[in-house]
Formats: sequence, C-alpha cells, structure tokens
Amino acid sequence: MDKKAYLYAAKAPDGAQQIRFLRFLKNKYGDDIELCFVEDSSLKGGFKLTCGEDVYNWTAEGRLRQLKDMLADMESGRGLKASESGELLALIKKSIDDFHLNTVPEEEGRVKTVGDGIVVASGLESVTYGEIVVFESGVKGMVQDLRKGEIGVILFGDDEDITEGSLVRRTKKTAGIPVGDGYLGRVVDALGNPLDGLGDIEDDGYRAVEAPAPGIIERQPVNEPMDTGLLSIDSMFPIGRGQRELIIGDRQTGKTTIAIDTILNQQDKGVLCIYVAIGQKASSVARTVGILKKRDAMKYTVVVNASASDPAPLQYIAPYAGTAIGEYFMAKGKDVLIIYDDLSKHAIAYRALSLLLERSPGREAYPGDVFYLHSRLLERSAHLSDELGGGSLTALPIVETQAGDVSAYIPTNIISITDGQIFLESDLFFAGQRPAVNVGLSVSRVGGAAQTKAMKKACGSLRLDLAQYREMEVFTQFSSDLDEATRKQLAYGQGLMRLLRQHSSSPLSLCEQVIVLVSATAHCFADVEIEKILDVRNELLEHFHREESGLCATIENTGILSDTDKERIITVAKEFMKNKA
Ligand code: ATP
Ligand code: MG
Repeated sequence: MDKKAYLYAAKAPDGAQQIRFLRFLKNKYGDDIELCFVEDSSLKGGFKLTCGEDVYNWTAEGRLRQLKDMLADMESGRGLKASESGELLALIKKSIDDFHLNTVPEEEGRVKTVGDGIVVASGLESVTYGEIVVFESGVKGMVQDLRKGEIGVILFGDDEDITEGSLVRRTKKTAGIPVGDGYLGRVVDALGNPLDGLGDIEDDGYRAVEAPAPGIIERQPVNEPMDTGLLSIDSMFPIGRGQRELIIGDRQTGKTTIAIDTILNQQDKGVLCIYVAIGQKASSVARTVGILKKRDAMKYTVVVNASASDPAPLQYIAPYAGTAIGEYFMAKGKDVLIIYDDLSKHAIAYRALSLLLERSPGREAYPGDVFYLHSRLLERSAHLSDELGGGSLTALPIVETQAGDVSAYIPTNIISITDGQIFLESDLFFAGQRPAVNVGLSVSRVGGAAQTKAMKKACGSLRLDLAQYREMEVFTQFSSDLDEATRKQLAYGQGLMRLLRQHSSSPLSLCEQVIVLVSATAHCFADVEIEKILDVRNELLEHFHREESGLCATIENTGILSDTDKERIITVAKEFMKNKA
C-alpha cells in the first residue's frame, strides 16, 4: 500500500478538517500515512481522496453517482417486492434515513489494452468474476477473466472511445436484463434495449442474466404436452412442457421453420414464446419477425436478437438474457417456450471471446468449458413444482451440423445435455419430404409421458411401420418383380411418409392429427394415388370439420380417443374414400 494519500480539492483544508482526514486515514491504512494536498479548482465544492488504488469520491459528481446507484438499487428491489405504493414509499423513507456518505473506497482501474471488444485493465483488485464495469465513455463491460494484477473485460458496446489509460469503475452488480410483460410483442437486443423502433419498454424489475437452475425439489416431472402442430413430431417424438428437445441438421434443412411453426401453433394455448436469434443475418431475423407478425403471433412472443454484426459478447449473453425473460414468466406460473437459434453460432462467439482472452484452446479450438457453456443454459429449462406456481420453460435449441456429422464436438455435447433430438436430413429435404425428420435418428426421451392419450392411441405402431418400410425400401431398391404383399407394404409406407409432409406455417390441431393417423394406420388411403394423397387428406379433414364437428370437439377438449370414436373415424374415412374413388 502506498503510504501517501492525496487530497484533491479547490481549497486547502483547515486544521480541524486535516485532523479529521488523518484520523480517517489512520483508521483505514495504519499510522504512518502522510496526507498530501493537491489543488484542483475544477472540483469546486467537495473533494476527492485517493490512497493507492482506493478512491473516495466526495465531489458533487461522485455524490450524484452514489445517489443514482442508490436509486438503481431501489428500482431493482422494486422488481422483487410487490410494487405497491405504500411499500415503495417505506423503502424510499428507509433509504433516506439510512443515507450516509460512502466510506467504502470506490475502486477505479485503468485500461491497459483494448481491441476486438476486449479490454485488459489494471487495478480493480476486488472486482468479481461476471461483474459489470463501466468505462468513462459510458460503455459497459463484463469481467470474464481475473489474472494477477489485471482483468479481462468483454465489452457490450463500442470500443471507439476507450483508450489506453482511460478510467474504469466497478458497479458491484452482475449482468442483468430488465424484464416485464411489456416485452411481449417486442424485438430487443441482448441487453433488453428495443430494436423495433416502437419506443421504450416498461419493465417490472431486473433479473440476473446468469441464474442457477432450479433444484430437484423445485421441479416436477414433465407431464403436459407442448404441441408443435407438426404431425411427424407430435406423433412420434412428442415434446413435453419443461423438456429440452434439440433440433439438429445441416444448413437449410428447415430447422428454423420447425421452431417458428411451433410458435405459430401456440396461438390461444396460453404459452408464451421467446425466440433468441444468435449470429444470424439481420434479414433472416426480419423475415422470421415478419412471419410472426403476419400470423398475429407476436402478441405472445419476445424476440431477442444478437445478429452476426453484433459484437461477440452480445451474441454470447443473448441466450442467457432470453432465458432470464423466460424465467420471469415461468416464475409467474406461465408456460414458456424458448428457442435458441442457433447454439453452434453461440459456441463460435464464445470461442472468439475465449481466444481473444488468451484462454488455451482445446478440441476444434473451443475452450475447455464449452460444455458448461450450454449445460448451464439448458439446465434452466424446467417444469416447476405446484408450490412454485407450476410454470414451465421448454427449450428448443437448434444446432447446425456440417454434412450431417452429428459426432462433431458441439453437436455431441448438446445431444448429451438435451432430452432428445429431431434430426433433419438434407437428402429428405431435397426429396421434398418436409419437415425432413429422420425417423430413425430422432428421439424424445421424456415427452412420451406428456403425450395426450388420444395421440398415443392414434399413432399405434406408426414408428415401427416406418422402420419396417425403410428397411424394406433399402432391400427392394434394385429388384423389379416384387410379390403382392411386399408391394402393398411398400405402398403403405410410402403413403405414410407422404402423409407426414406438411407445408410451413400450417400446423395441424390435435383432432386433425388424430384423424389422419387413425385413418392412415387403418389403410384408408390405400387406394389413393401417391401424388394426390395430401389433397385427399385436406379434403378428408374438411369433411370431418363439416360433418363430424362433435367428434372433433370431443377429441380436442378431452384429449381422449374412445374406441367408438376411433371406429367412427375409420368408418367415415372409408366411406369418404369410396366416394372419392
Ligand atoms: P439455416 O441453416 O439457413 O438457418 P434452416 O435449417 O433454419 O436454414 P429454414 O430457414 O427453416 O432452414 O428453411 C429453409 C427453406 O426451406 C426456407 O425457404 C423455408 O421456407 C423452406 N422450408 C422449410 N420447411 C418447409 C416446409 N415444411 N415446407 C415448405 N418449405 C419449407
Ligand atoms: Mg435457420
């Protein structure tokens, strides 16, 4: 510790003041401290005392900052407590009563190097990992590296005005994002600032971006379905509320489309959606927002966007920020669906950060903690216990593979963290099988318990039938004369595959899916030409809506398919097909 303390003020202190300063300093730093006076007329009223790296800022500016910090503290407190006016008033009164000048040193550091969104600064000895620091230019950063005598900071803004030697101050806060119902229908950046030009967003408090995942006691099993409206997923790979289901596939295989269709299908289902776009082109995000707006889905959706041109630190915290918004709704007992599009780009942003922070690269140049990067994110998805309101956070992370290689580093990591994956295949996609779900490689590990009874009963042996079809298809590829039974089996399989095709933005309701499945597995479509099968399906569904609306309503409302209803569907479908033929 420097044994000299410097007092900056416009006027030299008088004798009594000097004694008071010395008493304060000796208390803090020991007896052999010397007080030097430095005249600084710019300070006017007030003064600044420095001792080594400790700064006691009692200038008008410093006091104002203290007051602002106090107000910010009060505001974050408001988010936690009920914001009743009486309580708020008591809080203000208490803060005024408790107000005293800060005698804890306000640490300041100096920038050593800056570049690529990374700052290395000296000083700030007691700063903590993950703390937010503020630079002179007003730009904020997050401490991501603590080394001996210096810290590494990632910047959340422009590094233009930060130069070597500029000041950096602690805030003693970790990264947070404002949250509130006002965020529904908005497009925001990773720090919660609006990007849609619709004005300020009224928030309801602050939430830390990084939060611990709910523990075992706070959870309950996944037991409610999260319908995607896609026949190929809801029938064979059902997703439950609170589950984490990975959507994985090469580029341009319809990954985003599945996620967006799932959002569209939540209309009037009471599920709130959050779409986190990481490292995407701004035009792609604009297109997605356009679809959501057109289908009136923005009213229950929040879009968090950190596009490819945003600095890597923003791309890095975007999914955590989105999750914080999701957790706010989940804590209020709501069911929330969150989509991370996509985590490969997230890992790449984190790799860029880590390399710039000079962390040692591991496999594929990713840092050693890249597994923890995603596990701590996806663990926050949960179905909360009834005592905690019973809300849920369902995650649909998206991962892009290269040439269908699921055994690359990031895909294997995320496959092992999630509760299943929907594997999309380029070959299927280009053959026109859309959504291009590979039935053999996809799996849902917990969703079965959440599937509605009607759906379970309706899909019967669908997966098995398709597996048999695939096997047979391979063996019969080159043979021309097939026996009647094999030909029939092949045609049935082909028909099933065709029925699983679904155009984007056209989700099917539960009863529609049940009707298609029951009539398909009962071979009702056997005589329909393969090219016409989808048209016939649509006509059949229209027919049911028109003539059998009672049956549709029963299935939709109870989620149960009775034996008589099943029989009825088969009879009606067969009758309908007869008229078609
Ligand atoms: P990227 O790798 O670029 O993120 P992606 O895997 O997210 O691509 P999408 O953007 O969802 O793929 O889809 C690619 C294209 O395929 C889009 O033009 C989309 O409209 C089309 N597409 C996706 N699914 C379907 C579908 N079920 N029916 C018709 N077209 C589809
Ligand atoms: Mg996409």
